[in-house]
Amino acid sequence: MKKVMVIGCGAYMESGYGCPGEWRCLKAAALGEGEFDEPVQAISFVKCECPGRSVAPNVGMAIKLSELKPDVIHLSSCLVNAKPDCPYGEPEQFAQIIEKKTGIPVHLGTHEYH
Ligand code: SF4
Repeated sequence: MKKVMVIGCGAYMESGYGCPGEWRCLKAAALGEGEFDEPVQAISFVKCECPGRSVAPNVGMAIKLSELKPDVIHLSSCLVNAKPDCPYGEPEQFAQIIEKKTGIPVHLGTHEYH
């Protein structure tokens, strides 16, 4: 089964709007719904924190400490579709930085639940 890491927007997760980190990304991964073509194994969940500079190092650390390398990294739907937009960068920019650091493909989005 494919292994995935999910990265969520910490600012959103801590705002009390119904954090997708509670279940939505994980449900989509488990059932192969939304942005997941098939059921996958979610092996790690990393929280981005403003201004986003620590996310790439934290991804690297999660891979190192867990000794589990994901096949693909998903930026959560709350991070990718945030309105208002993240003031610190475009999702594509975060994806590029993480891909460059890890060599792992980054996919934009996780689920379509409300
Ligand atoms: S930097 Fe952007 S994506 Fe990261 S936690 Fe802050 S608002 Fe969310």
